[in-house]
This record gives sequence, C-alpha cells and structure tokens, in this order.
Amino acid sequence: MERTIFHIDANSEFLSWSAVKLLNEWPPIDLRSVPSVVGGSEQSRKGIVLASSIPAKQLGIKTGETLYSARLKCPELIVVPPDFELYEDMSAKFFKICNSFSPLVQKFSIDELFLDYTNMEPHFGPPLEGAKKISEKIKSELGFTVNIGISTNKLLAKMASDFEKPDKIHTLYPDEIKEKMWPLPIGNLFMVGRQTKKKLLDIGIDTIGKLANCDIEIMKKYLKSHGELIHKYANGIDASLVTTEKEPYKSISNGSTLPRDISDKGELLKYALSLCEKVCSRLRKEGVSASVVDVGIRFKDLSYCSHQKKLLKYIYSTNDVYSAVKDLVNELWSGETPVRAITIGLSDLVSNEYQQYSFFDDDKSKKYEKIDGVVDELREKYGFHCITRASLVDDKFHKNVLKYQNPSMKSYL
Ligand SMILES: [Mg+2]
Repeated sequence: MERTIFHIDANSEFLSWSAVKLLNEWPPIDLRSVPSVVGGSEQSRKGIVLASSIPAKQLGIKTGETLYSARLKCPELIVVPPDFELYEDMSAKFFKICNSFSPLVQKFSIDELFLDYTNMEPHFGPPLEGAKKISEKIKSELGFTVNIGISTNKLLAKMASDFEKPDKIHTLYPDEIKEKMWPLPIGNLFMVGRQTKKKLLDIGIDTIGKLANCDIEIMKKYLKSHGELIHKYANGIDASLVTTEKEPYKSISNGSTLPRDISDKGELLKYALSLCEKVCSRLRKEGVSASVVDVGIRFKDLSYCSHQKKLLKYIYSTNDVYSAVKDLVNELWSGETPVRAITIGLSDLVSNEYQQYSFFDDDKSKKYEKIDGVVDELREKYGFHCITRASLVDDKFHKNVLKYQNPSMKSYL
C-alpha cells in the first residue's frame, strides 16, 4: 500500500525559538523582524553566528561567521546567546503537537521530524489539508512557522520541505520528480555533502536529474555503496519506514568552553561537577548506565588531552560519575597551564533494564541514586535551576556557574 509521509522542519529554529521567548518578555521585541543573530558572547572566544534573521541575512550575514564581522556589516545588530534548554523544550512541544496528528512520528533532529500520515485522512482530511492543520496549530500554539514536505516516502518528503521557505507546504509525489527535483543542483540532494558534490561535479554531474539518469554501475564503481544510495535517492527511491524506535545512544557527552581560563583546581572541579549533573541527568532520562568515563581538557595554549577510565560497574548517579571525573582531572592536570574548556563523556552504555547489580554495589551508591531520582523529577517539573548542590552555592562561583549554565538568567543575578 502506498504511504503518505510528511517531513516537518521548523524554519530558522534557533532564531525563531529565541524570538518566541523574547516576545513574552518586556519590552517585547520580535527578533525575526529586525537584523538579529543567535551567537556566542561577543567578548568571549565563542563569538560566531549560529542563526540569523531574514533581515540579517539580507545584509549578508551568514551562519558560521564571526560576530565581529557580522557587526561590521550591521552596527545595530541584536545578538542573543543560544539557550539550548529552551530549544530542547520547544523541540519537545513541537514533537508533541505533531504526535497528536499521527501515532507514527520519528524525530530526525532537534527541529525536524517525519510523520506517517497514512490512514489519517478520515480524521484530518486529505494530506494537504492535514498538513495545513498541523502548521496552523504549531503557529498558533508555539508561535513559530514550519515547512512541510509531502510525498510517498521519507526521502521525497524531506526534499520537498526544503523547497521555498518559510511557512510553506510542498508536495513531491513520484510523478513530480522530473519536474520539481531533477532540475535542482546536485548539492541539494540529501546525503550529497561537499566532498561527494565535488566528485560528481568532476565528472560533469551538476544536477539531480543527471545523476538519476546515469548508469548505476558507473556510480557503484565511482563512489561504492554511497554512489548506489544517492543514485537511488536521485530517482526518488527510499524504502525506509517512519519508526518510533529511538536509535540507541552510543555515548553521551557534555562540554563547553569556560567563561574564562581557570587556574584553580577547586574551581575547575566545580565546573566539572555541574557538567556531571547535566550529563548524568541525560543518562538517566535515557534509562541507561555507563561504565566508561572520559574527560577531555583544552588548555589556554589550545593543546588538548583526554583520559578515560573503565569502571568495574555500570553507573548513573552523579556522585559516582563525579568521583571518576575527579580522578581523571587529577591525572590530566597538574595545574600549570590554565584550562579553557572541559568535556565529560560517558560510553559503553547499557539499558538499566538489563543491568545487573555487581558485588561492588554499596548502600551509599543506592542512596545517591535515589537522591538523583528525586532531583531529576523536581527539575523536570520546575526547571534545571530549581535546585542546586550545596557545594556549588558559594558567592561568586554560584553566580558564575548559573550564568554559565543558562546565559538568559543574567537578569536575575
Ligand atoms: Mg529547520
């Protein structure tokens, strides 16, 4: 049976989501209607443009350029810091609305998902009508716009949502491939990255149509299995289904450049502890435990080193992870060169369902796990900052670490 698949993509997600939040603050301002960008702090080293408004784009400001050069193009440019907690929250709400139109929704990235609309016509109307309802609901309830691509498989739906933006619905049914997809430049095809594009241009394939019509055997020889895959895509062939099963995580990590270079071990360990809290709460949310802990440190002179530790048991409590992290920081850092950035990674993950308690378990670990559970629940309900470890509450550090975890909290400190 033929399926109906939607690909739904939030338009300039980071900028739109930050804009929606600022609209609710005082004085309200719509970032989308003025030259504005989401970017790191202009003073610190993280100063690049992550997303820009249409008026900013019209002034030639591009994603990835430095804020310094963006400001040269537009001295009145408004710069807001990224707020990843807000983005994850918006992403979850976006998913939930889409899920109310079909039980089969697959998250593809923070701002994109696939929705299987097959058999949904009796409830919401023909595909175009259903797509319009979804788009209107997102706009009225969440305040941002999406592009929706409609077709019979995921690949074609994804290609369709990439046509003209923003706030548009496009179809790309198999009988429209020739007219709508084949004239497009080869770089527009899903899974054709910069390197593949160069290789295809080298042999004169500059449109999707030319790839679709070349001999598949030549592609197989030229680009191996990837050549075969993109040849299929150019012909609109994709048999993969919309699945609600999540791909299991192989590893989970969190890291960030520190607000300034740090020379004091006690202070660095506090940042490490606050990172442990974040990474462990993600671990617990996924219902997995880890037995390998990694710490990576980038120094002021930009040199980098990392160490990892294989533990005798699988852990998920913040205290257990932090105690391994502390050992690794001590191994890695003598305190001589100031530290610029730190990353904490957890791998060798197993589902908690299959976890066997080892002989090394003690009552203390169990107690920590219980406390973590309660803290996670509180944070789920009232936000990450509703509760803080006593060891992180001390005058100056408390302010810095809060700012560091959530730049938008500045005004309250
Ligand atoms: Mg998007």
